[in-house]
Amino acid sequence: MCASCRTAAERGEIRGQTAALIDGAILLDCGPDAPRAAVRAGRSLASVRYILLTHAHPDHLNPAALLFRSWVQADRPLDVIGPADALDLCRDWVGPDDPVNFVPVVPGDRIALNGYTLRVLEAAHRVFRDGDSVLYDVTSPAGSRLLWATDTGPLPSSTLDAVRDARYDALFLEETFGTRTDLGAGHHDLTTFPRTLAALRDADAITAATDVVAVHLSHYNPPTPELSERLAPWGARVVDDGATVTVGVARPVDAAPSTRTLVLGGARAGKSTYAETLLAAEPRVTYLATGGVQEGDREWAERVALHRARRPTGWTTVETSDVAAVLRNVREPVLLDCLGTWLTARLDHHRVWSGGDWADVDADIIDLLGALRRVVVPVVAVSNEVGSGVVPPTAAGRRFRDLLGRVNSAVAAESESVVLVVAGVPTSLRSF
Ligand SMILES: [Zn+2]
Ligand SMILES: [Zn+2]
Repeated sequence: MCASCRTAAERGEIRGQTAALIDGAILLDCGPDAPRAAVRAGRSLASVRYILLTHAHPDHLNPAALLFRSWVQADRPLDVIGPADALDLCRDWVGPDDPVNFVPVVPGDRIALNGYTLRVLEAAHRVFRDGDSVLYDVTSPAGSRLLWATDTGPLPSSTLDAVRDARYDALFLEETFGTRTDLGAGHHDLTTFPRTLAALRDADAITAATDVVAVHLSHYNPPTPELSERLAPWGARVVDDGATVTVGVARPVDAAPSTRTLVLGGARAGKSTYAETLLAAEPRVTYLATGGVQEGDREWAERVALHRARRPTGWTTVETSDVAAVLRNVREPVLLDCLGTWLTARLDHHRVWSGGDWADVDADIIDLLGALRRVVVPVVAVSNEVGSGVVPPTAAGRRFRDLLGRVNSAVAAESESVVLVVAGVPTSLRSF
């Protein structure tokens, strides 16, 4: 048994297939688990008036549910809405004289359902052919609005266009593959999930007030507590099976979110990758490369190229060591990578190794801390944890190490969150 499944079993947290019930009246997907899951959660499906099927995969579609229904109440009308292929699988399961009506839909359709408005959107997912899987945008009679986005890979451009300015109250976005990124484009994983959130934020489809819930979680995901920690910086969460999600009540938006994070780690510990991950759901990020260009160093050039390739579109790279000036003017989240190269650049700038004044470096540090204290956007700063490494053989090396240690401590004191990354694993040292 994998660690994720073992942890889930020990916690009594066995997840069923993904489905949701809206106001007791609209059932979103109906896999084999759905009827029993409803009973376990203390809900009745007796007053379901509409079943919305996203596609014909068997974890979303159990046509036998229609037969069960006809055994107990074949008198109330039921509309089964979905792609034609999914509906075809259902037709033989309707009981005699059961008033079940099939409504085939395609992306772009808009349907009124007893006060609810349903919009049908294209999914990046297929069963038999392209276009046979859809997503649903549902607006309640009271005006609250949700997007049911399973199953799908990164959203097609037609869908991103369709949800522009939607400002959903809730988003249920699938995150199937977890840490596996090699299993195809028909689902999200922990790399593509935040990028889709960034795209939706960029389109104003989701806002800081949107309740973002990750659904359709496979065992390739880390155990729930760790998954929750990974989703939190992206403004997303997981809920237990059977949970009630209230859509459209004003959610408290954190007035003073944790805006400064210091990420420490040794060389090649994975600190830059982790720091980038923290901002992966932001549509626009200023990437402050403080290292500058190191001429003639091939290994360095390759490393810089690799960093660049990993960065999503929407990130702007600024190469400068005048970090304080950038922090004073920036209006989007900042990734500062890293304090060590910044300090090296300031030491070089003031020529301290050939008679320059160390007091100028101290002034730079004070300037940086002042700018960090007043910053109005999230800042993630990366630095080398130098104190526990090998003692540098030269006096200059030791002086640099001591100075960077002081800078790290001072920046940590200005940061709401401090994380140490060892062997790619982040450990929180502080989080307010
Ligand atoms: Zn599917
Ligand atoms: Zn599925």
